[in-house]
Amino acid sequence: PSTFTHEFNHPTFKGNVSFSTGIFINGQFVDGSDNTTIDVINPTNGKVLTKISEATANDVDIAVEAAQKAYDTVWGLNAPGALRSKLLTKLSLLMAEHADELAAIEALDNGSTFGWARNADVAGSIDCIRYYGGWADKISGQTIETTEKKLVYTRHEPMGVVGQIIPWNFPLLMLSWKLGPALATGNTIILKPSEFTPLTAIRMCQLINEAGFPPGVVNILTGYGHTVGNAISSHMKIEKVAFTGSTLVGRKIMEAASKSNLKNVTLELGGKSPNIIFDDADLDQAVNWAAFGIFWNHGQTCCAGSRIFVHAKVYDEFLARFTAKTQSLKVGDPFLRETFQGPQVSEVQYNRIMSYINSGKQEGATVHSGGERHGTEGFFIQPTIFTNTKPDMKIVQEEIFGPVGVVIKFEDDEDVVRQANDTVYGLAAALFTTNLNRAISVAHKLKAGTTWINCVNQLHSNVPFGGFKQSGIGRELGEYALHNYSNVKAVHINLGHEMT
Ligand code: NAD
Repeated sequence: PSTFTHEFNHPTFKGNVSFSTGIFINGQFVDGSDNTTIDVINPTNGKVLTKISEATANDVDIAVEAAQKAYDTVWGLNAPGALRSKLLTKLSLLMAEHADELAAIEALDNGSTFGWARNADVAGSIDCIRYYGGWADKISGQTIETTEKKLVYTRHEPMGVVGQIIPWNFPLLMLSWKLGPALATGNTIILKPSEFTPLTAIRMCQLINEAGFPPGVVNILTGYGHTVGNAISSHMKIEKVAFTGSTLVGRKIMEAASKSNLKNVTLELGGKSPNIIFDDADLDQAVNWAAFGIFWNHGQTCCAGSRIFVHAKVYDEFLARFTAKTQSLKVGDPFLRETFQGPQVSEVQYNRIMSYINSGKQEGATVHSGGERHGTEGFFIQPTIFTNTKPDMKIVQEEIFGPVGVVIKFEDDEDVVRQANDTVYGLAAALFTTNLNRAISVAHKLKAGTTWINCVNQLHSNVPFGGFKQSGIGRELGEYALHNYSNVKAVHINLGHEMT
């Protein structure tokens, strides 16, 4: 264990932040079994920010034992819903007390702007924990009529020790989406944050202790995917794994689950979401939403509206306004109030996005705006628009996960629905029109887990979110997420004792 200390001195946030770090097992910070560390890089300048403990597969075993003990003694069926509710509510209040600090850590570690981190990521995280605190004592089964001689009821029991593996794009929000429903339903947890953005997860450990969760209920292990992530998804005593991340790794998780104990799997994966602008759309609104759709969080959003289809009649007008809007977005220091877009999270992502931009150029698409690095240090990329694309180009088919959108002209409604659905993904879709019939009929034809009409990127704790097709399995948020973490047991009672 060690201490992370950082002096923030920005117009948006000033102050000294200091907190314990380490691998969090059984309510305590410890070093990894091999005593190794991981460098955490500041994406704004590319420099090492701190070193954190690296967990190993052995630490996963130790954590599972602690989580199982907690489950069998103080949590699971031993912790009434009212207690779980009280602790989750307390945790959300503690998060609210530390909201600015959490947002500052997120901006430092991930590169998200302080303003968005504070008002979207952290606010959404607090709300999510609060929301599931509300559910914890309202989870009940059904009474089912069979015959008058029998009584059947169902119970929604926790699964036991669950594994959760999360990505770097919204570190605290993804953690909250995972912890909330799993704790509300009475499971104990082994969670692995992304090795790129571990700091808010580590900061949460102390708040989890302060809230009063018994040791071992939440264990947070910072480490790499191929070691800790693989150990979680292959573990014989972990009953379920919930994963958010790339489709590539999602496949590995399912494979590991199937080769080990056939643990239950839920996946939130990638996307290549369409955003359709019809000729009767309110163009001012559509332009603003479309820019938010693709450029929010620097394009590192699984539901990013990265394929923008525009009706031929309004194409030129839309493109001119969309270009002006894109060029007005301020890129730079995530702690400045006026900044909309900070750095990409890591050098790996920076290189990956630049190679997609180059592939678009090589395949003959037009860089309509942007397309280059921004500045000279850190991992900044200009908000980029491509036009003159072909359907089979990589930049049209593959998830770039950066500030790169393609604008595609279409002529008729049937055809745009076909093109919008021409992807292996199905996470989200958006459409802009003032015609109610067109809005609803197209919304129903789009193959996506979420469809936004005249808006994009709307996420609420009580509304399910998840993917069709290769975008995932299961739903997070809302009542739906409770099913991810409960086993349904049917209890049959024979009232007559006779064999009938
Ligand atoms: P990633 O798949 O590389 O990593 C996600 C997590 O999996 C990390 O914690 C990583 O360490 C771990 N991991 C890597 N290899 C592993 C293995 N073999 N076994 C177990 N765990 C392993 O994804 P990323 O680059 O961190 O995040 C970006 C991706 O996440 C994008 O594709 C994006 O669309 C997706 N994403 C989806 C959603 C959603 O809700 N659908 C939300 C956020 C991000």
